[in-house]
Amino acid sequence: MAAAVVPRGRRWEEPRALGRALRLLKLLEEQCGDPRMALSPPSLRDLLPRTAQLLREVAQARRAASGGGPEGPGGAGDFLVVYLANLEAKSRQVAALLPPRGRRGSNDELFREGSRLRRQLAKLALIFSHMHAELGALFPGGKYCGHTYQLTKAPAHTFWREHCGVRCVLPWTEFESLLCTCHPVEAGSMALALRSTIDLTCSGHVSIFEFDIFTRLFQPWPTLLRNWQLLAVNHPGYMAFLTYDEVQARLQACRDKPGSYIFRPSCTRLGQWAIGYVSVDGSILQTIPPNRPLFQVLLEGRKNGFYLYPDGKNHNPDLTELCQTEPHQRIHVSEEQLQLYWAVDSTFELCKICAESNKDVRIEPCGHLLCSRCLAAWQRSDSQTCPFCRCEIKGREAVSIYQFQEKPAEASVTAKDLGDSSDQEDGELEQGQAAPSPPPLPPRLDLSPRRPTSEFQLQVAPLALPRLRTPLPLPRIGTVASAPWEITSRLQAREGATENS
Ligand SMILES: [Zn+2]
Ligand SMILES: [Zn+2]
Repeated sequence: MAAAVVPRGRRWEEPRALGRALRLLKLLEEQCGDPRMALSPPSLRDLLPRTAQLLREVAQARRAASGGGPEGPGGAGDFLVVYLANLEAKSRQVAALLPPRGRRGSNDELFREGSRLRRQLAKLALIFSHMHAELGALFPGGKYCGHTYQLTKAPAHTFWREHCGVRCVLPWTEFESLLCTCHPVEAGSMALALRSTIDLTCSGHVSIFEFDIFTRLFQPWPTLLRNWQLLAVNHPGYMAFLTYDEVQARLQACRDKPGSYIFRPSCTRLGQWAIGYVSVDGSILQTIPPNRPLFQVLLEGRKNGFYLYPDGKNHNPDLTELCQTEPHQRIHVSEEQLQLYWAVDSTFELCKICAESNKDVRIEPCGHLLCSRCLAAWQRSDSQTCPFCRCEIKGREAVSIYQFQEKPAEASVTAKDLGDSSDQEDGELEQGQAAPSPPPLPPRLDLSPRRPTSEFQLQVAPLALPRLRTPLPLPRIGTVASAPWEITSRLQAREGATENS
């Protein structure tokens, strides 16, 4: 699809452009009146009024600020120039596919399963879904926050802010050259393929939101482009721009081959993968696995006999080379931090929810630490927000905590130096541009934080101190969530419910 053309050389009149976009969306909504228009996500009939509503909120907030607020290159104003031009371009493409208003049913090919027109419309609906998510993420409630947007993966956040500053959007070519300083991209077809994966809204630009999604999908950061190459470019199971319904339809052809599978970026939960597969009894299931690198999920699924034949093909690419760089962050605790905890008869590494296990996982993007058992139990209780600060849980990262070693070199690397890796429960650290952590929330009954308050614990705490000075054993990443398949099967029902209803 053609990139949006940003009007240059003429005075940009934002209110007028916003008004024009709203009128276009209204017309398109009327054109989408045919009852045969798909209702499963991404549904244009659902997305168009919601996008219009968001744009009205943006217009209102911009009016209220009378053009004030953070502007400058790559700020709210520049973003809206790119966004509205792209929205207009994509709206016109949809309008050209749909039957004219008042003439329903004149274009039957559009509603025939597997037709070219229907595929085009499904792709455009996905782009609209991405555009809606992007606008909502950068203008929550209409108010611009691109300059403070927090990327989920900490190294991706550091990269963006160091190279792009407070900008929330930049042209692809500029972004590509910046990315090359850290992750070299081969020019030519490789760079084109990368652009089509990152640029979710097909605007010719990269926004901080799109980069966040990309770095979540293709984590871990150190091998970002190698992951992308093995999982997207070379993998026959990867399906870009495919909807839930299209996955169901595609796997119909493999129903007699259990273990057939394909995977696509989820459109209802951007930044996560949805994997469709044929089960042993020949039924087609779709699941959103918990936040972990995709290669780990695929390797585990292969071992368990779920993901054997990508797109029905016998050759299943070997992804074990990606396991070599374990995304295992070390958190170093300084002497000062240790003493702070000892003073209250606790320890830094002890999980503050169960007070039994050590912290071994970090919630992203807020950075709160807890043990993986508690996180799994918390998420099983259907809570998708951090138990400490209620920030949305967008990801998780296995961590291991290193105690102060009385060696000056080690002691100088504190949790604070590592950006986001420290314990925020006591409000002692803040991360990047995140809002200051509110105090911990009142405990839930099922997961009550228990502080060591009994006399017994108070007495043993000092005795335990010398042992704390040695590093803890590295928890193995594969063992953190004890029952990934349990979570997966629970999500199957939910994914079906959210993406198919
Ligand atoms: Zn715990
Ligand atoms: Zn948190």
